[in-house]
Amino acid sequence: MKKTLILCVAVTSLAVGLSLAAENPYAGKFFASGDPKKAEFALTFDDGPGHITEALLALLEKRGAKAAFFIPGSSARAYPARVKKIAEAGHLVASHTDTHKNWFKIGNAGNRETVLEAELARASEAIQKAGGQRPTVLRMPNGYDRPWVRAVARRLNYTLVNWTYGSDWLKQPEEKMTAEYLKALKPGAILLLHDGGGKVKEKNLRLVAALLDEAGKRGLKPVRLDDLLGLGAPGAKR
Ligand SMILES: [Zn+2]
Repeated sequence: MKKTLILCVAVTSLAVGLSLAAENPYAGKFFASGDPKKAEFALTFDDGPGHITEALLALLEKRGAKAAFFIPGSSARAYPARVKKIAEAGHLVASHTDTHKNWFKIGNAGNRETVLEAELARASEAIQKAGGQRPTVLRMPNGYDRPWVRAVARRLNYTLVNWTYGSDWLKQPEEKMTAEYLKALKPGAILLLHDGGGKVKEKNLRLVAALLDEAGKRGLKPVRLDDLLGLGAPGAKR
């Protein structure tokens, strides 16, 4: 009797493990760029929704561009209606943990796995409650990347994605910022910008418009991050 019970438990956990793996074959994998041979790039926005998100969605819609939004659970709780709009517009809704902790400071703590697991669960819950899909793509705050983070991501069904270029958080003249982003606009590029996280970021709307203008001239197509990387994200709206 006891033996049968143990076997049942083992079979059940194996089935759960398999179904998670089947949902995201790229769980635990890490990307920082797409294929440089394809004339595509991806726009990604972190820390929002924020003040510019609605205007940004209107701009992307007007230009027929899809993007990825890395949303902290705390932002999803603050602006659930904006998360819903992002998801309904067909953009990729991705996780940016729950409270944007500085993992460079706390990443050596003994309970780091437990803390990260709780952060991911809370963020996922907040995003889904707001109307987004269950996120399967994760960007750690500040791009923190360590083997233990990849192990947690693999276990919890997340693909990790950083970026090829981003500098909108630096203090610099807008013209310089725009010029640097345009320089980084290349096949396979994953560009990081922010639509949330404190300061109002109207300049980023102008930056996105400039990037899309230039992409059009160079024949580069803005695609969703999961399309750029060929992830085939489950439950994704196209
Ligand atoms: Zn961030």
